Amino acid sequence: METLKKNDVLTGQVVDLTHEGHGVVKIDRYPIFIPNTLIDEKIEYKVIKVKKNFAIGKLIKVITESDARVEPPCIYYYKCGGCQLQHMSYQAQLNMKKEQVVNLFHRKAKFTNTVIKDTVGMEDPWRYRNKSQIPVGLSKDQQPIMGFYRQRSHDIIDMESCLIQDQQHQQVMNDLKQLISELNISVYNEKTKKGLLRHLVVRTGHYTNQLMIILVTNGKAFKQAESLVDALVRKYPNVTSIKQNINDAHSNVIMGPQSITLYGEEEIEDQLSEVTFNISDQSFYQINSHQTEKLYQQALDYAQLTGDEIVLDTYCGIGTIAIYMAENARHVYGVEVVPSAINDANQNATKNQLENTTFVCGKAEEVILKWKAEGIRPDVVMVDPPRKGCDETFLETILELNPKRIVYISCNPSTQQRDAHILNHQYDLKEITPVDMFPQTTHIETVALFERK
Ligand code: SAH
Repeated sequence: METLKKNDVLTGQVVDLTHEGHGVVKIDRYPIFIPNTLIDEKIEYKVIKVKKNFAIGKLIKVITESDARVEPPCIYYYKCGGCQLQHMSYQAQLNMKKEQVVNLFHRKAKFTNTVIKDTVGMEDPWRYRNKSQIPVGLSKDQQPIMGFYRQRSHDIIDMESCLIQDQQHQQVMNDLKQLISELNISVYNEKTKKGLLRHLVVRTGHYTNQLMIILVTNGKAFKQAESLVDALVRKYPNVTSIKQNINDAHSNVIMGPQSITLYGEEEIEDQLSEVTFNISDQSFYQINSHQTEKLYQQALDYAQLTGDEIVLDTYCGIGTIAIYMAENARHVYGVEVVPSAINDANQNATKNQLENTTFVCGKAEEVILKWKAEGIRPDVVMVDPPRKGCDETFLETILELNPKRIVYISCNPSTQQRDAHILNHQYDLKEITPVDMFPQTTHIETVALFERK
């Protein structure tokens, strides 16, 4: 827009929210995206970037507040990149997530007959993360700092507490900061690529309270490991496993392929509803256990099992959904690409005394072809891919297998919508339920039911 210039100070009315939770002000049809603003608010803002098709603004002050505005309870909120919606009431967050699904499926994609339910929320939408991954760095005066990255950067904001994490994780974090100094452990520097300790990863069993502490190091040599483990075990009687994960790749990937158990068990145990699971350090496990139970229950309701079905659980992780469903099915086949997760899945089936599950390690798109060749004909297919969604050939193979129902869980509704178009040749998208797995953030999780036409 030609008339708009950087540093202009303007007032405007927020008319929309982006999927990143940024307010949208429009001048004619040209959008200006302004974080920390809400629909219907009248605001004063400063233009900080002008591009051909859009601009970015910074909120100066809210002139007329939305009813949905609340004071963010976290003191780091406006700096940290972890949460994006703390300035919005929880009910408004749930409404916004539903609205985005409606937008994607009803308005953009014309799945107008699909029922979109209200977002299933949490009673207490805080302290829900059962896993925390916290980078370690040094302050300007060379003191250890730990916390989260500043928005769109890799600068660490030193923190004492994070309101979406398990309380115990921040205790471990604060103790570790002190132990780094006491034991003189060197800290990894992303720029020089030198130094040892990179990340602290902590996992807690939601029901068991078992604690796994993972110290991610640049290289294997770790002379203070024994003293550090002693100190942590003394402080945390519930620590079940302490691991060193070696990551000498100079990339943004947090964990490397190799882990060494420094103390205790290889895995921790957790429960969801009546089912018990082993979880190893490298396996995917849903972050928010409260909401996972609701998500899986919804998936189970959509699957409408009678006890006689053949079910595929694709992208199965440690087999949680498969094991959830096995009691109500004839046989469940699971596929997952991470070997340690498949190892966990097999152990978990044994642990829950199930004899009607089979888990295969491999790519879903390849293993499903093998199953088809073996003559396996599923009645229900569960799909739960990562953010990028499914491979096209995988969806086409499902169409050939022609199950009665497909239940598709997604952490990225836009790829789910793309994939729904392929399934739509043969299936009606009946219903979608958003489940809020990540309160205070813009992440949306949905579970969708497709029925054969
Ligand atoms: N259903 C599981 C895991 C879902 S997360 C649960 O609810 O816990 C998605 C999983 O897909 C991850 O475990 C990831 O390792 C796996 N994955 C990613 N790409 C894959 C592929 N091409 N084939 C099979 N699994 C894949």
